[in-house]
Amino acid sequence: MLDVRGLKKVYEGSGRRVEAVRDLTFTVDAGELVCLVGPSGCGKTTLLKCMGGLLSPTSGEVLLEGRKVSGPPPGMAFVFQEYGRSLFPWMRVGENVELPLKQKDLGKSRRRELVRDALESVGLEDAVGAYPWQLSGGMQQRVAIARALAYEPHVLLMDEPFAAVDAQTRADLEDLVRGLWRERGITILFVTHDIDEAVYLGERVVVLSASPTVVREQLKVDLPAERDQLHTRVDPRFAELRTHVYEQIQAAKRGDGPQDAVTKSDTPPPR
Ligand code: ADP
Ligand code: MG
Repeated sequence: MLDVRGLKKVYEGSGRRVEAVRDLTFTVDAGELVCLVGPSGCGKTTLLKCMGGLLSPTSGEVLLEGRKVSGPPPGMAFVFQEYGRSLFPWMRVGENVELPLKQKDLGKSRRRELVRDALESVGLEDAVGAYPWQLSGGMQQRVAIARALAYEPHVLLMDEPFAAVDAQTRADLEDLVRGLWRERGITILFVTHDIDEAVYLGERVVVLSASPTVVREQLKVDLPAERDQLHTRVDPRFAELRTHVYEQIQAAKRGDGPQDAVTKSDTPPPR
């Protein structure tokens, strides 16, 4: 579904040169929920912008369903970290969700139906006529998720979407994402710096090194598909996996171990 090959991004300008992403290669299969985890500043947003066609890579390429991404692809939707800046304050919730649909060749009644259905999926059917600033942060982020869902994307890219909400809301939103993934069968690439979140949500975790970024490890999360905040987080296997990822990230920060090489083990740490 998604194929990132030898992606490199160097920011250049005003005499400065920042190599944000050195060499990233990984794939995401159709219908998979993959979490990408790496330390702050390691180039996660840069990578997602390249994947979404918002930024052109210095070298390498991104393929979506076999086609090279060179601008925002029609089958892809984004949920950004800053929900406060991603919704239009002068538009009601329903209008915000409907806006991207206007690029599609759909009749008004079909658009309305998609908006209603998406808001229902995130539990906000009653907020259709409210303005974003009348809602809490968590609700605003739900609106942003509904907007992405209404667009009926094949692939959903999420960039630290819950980093700015409180812990309780965050837990609810994590469960919402897993629920939507299981119901709708969308392919999701979820980026976070939070190790517990990556292990809780993902079917697979891709661990990134510090900048200039390479893939440090890929780990299959062999927890049951049915997860919940109460039981999953106290499962000994959850603790083993999170500890393993934590050690990888610490080593990545220190710069030990595989430097330029890509370690690719799909085998989780032994039980
Ligand atoms: P993350 O999302 O993992 O925190 P970013 O992709 O935002 O990381 O940034 C990775 C690196 O690239 C950082 O060192 C950051 O300062 C640098 N960077 C990001 N955007 C730009 C830009 N537009 N110009 C120059 N450097 C940038
Ligand atoms: Mg970022």
